Amino acid sequence: MAEDSVNETNKKDIEPQMGFVVIVSGVSGAGKGTVIEKVRSIRDDFVLSISTTTRTPRGEDIVGEHYHHVSDDAFHRLVSEGAFLEWAEVHGHYYGTRKAWVEDKLREGWIVILEIDVQGALQVMERLGDVTSVFVTPSDRKVAHERLRRRGTDEKEDIERRIRNSEWEYEQMNRFSYIVVNESGKLDEAAATLTAILTAEKARMHRTKIRP
Ligand code: 5GP
Repeated sequence: MAEDSVNETNKKDIEPQMGFVVIVSGVSGAGKGTVIEKVRSIRDDFVLSISTTTRTPRGEDIVGEHYHHVSDDAFHRLVSEGAFLEWAEVHGHYYGTRKAWVEDKLREGWIVILEIDVQGALQVMERLGDVTSVFVTPSDRKVAHERLRRRGTDEKEDIERRIRNSEWEYEQMNRFSYIVVNESGKLDEAAATLTAILTAEKARMHRTKIRP
C-alpha cells in the first residue's frame, strides 16, 4: 500500500475521543481551582463544569462564569426535579453539578472536569462507573489553613468551619484514584501532574474509538 493511502486509512480510523469525567476535589484551601486554571493555560481539551450554588457571589466570582447563583428555593426545586448529578451542602451553602450539561459535553467528546467538594466527589464515583478522581492537597495541612485565612474573602467563622470539615475530607483521600500535591511555590509541578493524569486517562484503551 502506498504511504499516502496508509495515512488516509489512519486518519479515517481516528474518530473523536469518547468523553469522560475527571473529578478534581480535595480539602478547602488546597488550591484546586488555581491548579485547574494553570492547566487551562497549557491545554484546551477539557471543559470545566459551572456549578449551581446558593452562596452569594464574592469578590473574585464572575457571575455565570464561575457559578450560577440561585436562591435556596430554586436550588431545591432543581434537586426535586433530579437536575443534579451530585449536590451537597458545603460550609453552609448548597452546591450542585447539572446533569444535563455534563451529559451533553460527554456526548461531544470532552474531558469534563468537576471541581467539587469531597461529598460530591463520592456521589459521582458511586453514580458513574467510568470516572477519574483526583485529590488535591497541600504538602502540609497548616499551609491549607493559612491559605484560607489569608484569602480574606470569607468570614472568620466560615474559615474555621472549613478547617474543621477538612479533617473528614482528609480521611476520604484513599478513595480517590490520584493525588496531586500542590506545594507552596510549586504550582507548575502540580499542574504538570494533573496534565499527565489527563493525558494518561485519555489514552486508556477502553476510551478510544479506534478499533483494529
Ligand atoms: P467556594 O464557595 O469556595 O467557591 O467553594 C466551596 C467548596 O464547594 C469548594 O470545595 C468547591 O470545590 C465546592 N464546590 C463547588 N462547586 C461544587 C459542586 O457543584 N458540587 C459540590 N459538591 N461541591 C462544589
